[in-house]
Amino acid sequence: MVNKVSEKTKIPYKIYLDEQEIPSAWYNLRADMKNKPAPLLNPGTLQPMTAEELKGVFCDELVAQELDDVNAYIPIPEEIQSFYKMYRPSPLVRAYCLEEKLQTPARIYYKFEGNNTSGSHKLNSAIAQAYYAKKQGLKGVTTETGAGQWGTALSMACSYFGLDCLVYMVKVSYEQKPFRREVMRTYRATVTPSPSTTTEIGRKILAEHPGTTGSLGCAISEAVEAEATREGYRYVLGSVLNQVLLHQTVIGLETKTALDKYNIVPDIIIGCAGGGSNLGGLISPFAGEILRGEKKYRIIAVEPASCPSFTRGVFAYDFCDTGKVCPLAKMYTLGSGFIPSANHAGGLRYHGMSPVLSQLYHDGIIEATSVEQTAVFQAAVEFARVEGILPAPESSHAIRVAIDEALKCKETGEEKTIVFGLTGTGYFDMVAYEKYNNGEMSDYIPTDEDLKPGFDAIPRFPGNEF
Ligand SMILES: *Cc1c(COP(=O)(O)O)cnc(C)c1O
Repeated sequence: MVNKVSEKTKIPYKIYLDEQEIPSAWYNLRADMKNKPAPLLNPGTLQPMTAEELKGVFCDELVAQELDDVNAYIPIPEEIQSFYKMYRPSPLVRAYCLEEKLQTPARIYYKFEGNNTSGSHKLNSAIAQAYYAKKQGLKGVTTETGAGQWGTALSMACSYFGLDCLVYMVKVSYEQKPFRREVMRTYRATVTPSPSTTTEIGRKILAEHPGTTGSLGCAISEAVEAEATREGYRYVLGSVLNQVLLHQTVIGLETKTALDKYNIVPDIIIGCAGGGSNLGGLISPFAGEILRGEKKYRIIAVEPASCPSFTRGVFAYDFCDTGKVCPLAKMYTLGSGFIPSANHAGGLRYHGMSPVLSQLYHDGIIEATSVEQTAVFQAAVEFARVEGILPAPESSHAIRVAIDEALKCKETGEEKTIVFGLTGTGYFDMVAYEKYNNGEMSDYIPTDEDLKPGFDAIPRFPGNEF
């Protein structure tokens, strides 16, 4: 403890960076990967998607970023840098209070991305995607949103640049989170519960599954169709894609700068993983060091036991959406038809995982673990009470594992340095917190039987054995 007291005078509770220390370029981890993530495939021809094909769906600049496996640094345009300055740099916090509560010799830090109205890291990519759409002279963008953070972030970004924003929101969230919807409308977005009758694929899904409360995969299909049937629109996605991970590297780059200031070297880096964008963004600079043979870190992806893409999925080409209109991506997947059980409370419900992270996991560069939601909320509440931030359920997956690792240090006496991503706040997740507080939250881990239909629906073709 003597060490820690003297250290307390040295390392502040919050390590803030100066405005000039916000990165001026994103870091493209793919440039340092020997095994590149597999390219997206055209589902019709099974050939890699060309830039021309992708330009029908995404903005030109974003297509270039999506396909760029070579350039390690991609400059951040001035306009995006100015927007970042409104809410960045985000603090790297030393969790002294949590350490004290746990009585652990571990040193715990978290990078807090919840300090903007979207309440999450998603704004980092939303503003970039809206900027490129505007620059290309488009009228608007379409997207899907699950828990609502992405839709909110994109609405903010579109309203800033004067773009139209059409959001397909998974029906169960639309109904459970009316206030989220209202924030989006405040920023002038049009929000439609999905599946809806406004698209062909929505009508088809409704006919096949009357009463369905929707899924991300289904909302993606509707958003893509809405884009394809409107002149001057493009589709944007809040996670999974290479371009999104790229934009999110502002998180990791700032974290690295802050740690370097105080010569702090992490032993373990932890992040929650839905589609993988915050985790990919946080770990990229560190994973780059591992890949270049400069450093060693343990990197842990945390996912819900009820949606275990990494820990129980297969590594294969699969559809990114339920309607099978999107390109095929090679990733850890539960199958595009997978829908988490109804009692699954918060986020991280996508069936697949970022191709970049999937490749890193396949190559043993990162680890993954899954946790059950009652244990997640227990960690969330413990954290909220000592650190003063009410965390998003998604972020709380990382908190759970950070606490578990810190408790292991308590047993062994090791003074490990743990860094985790606190991706957002949970103010719109009070239905889930209410369930937990009432003791009504339960866990459901899918059986192998439950997962089988998802795997059976993954396309089979030569080279896609799993
Ligand atoms: C969207 C979201 C996540 C999960 O998405 P990733 O792309 O895996 O980062 C995690 N936390 C919060 C607060 C989110 O909004």
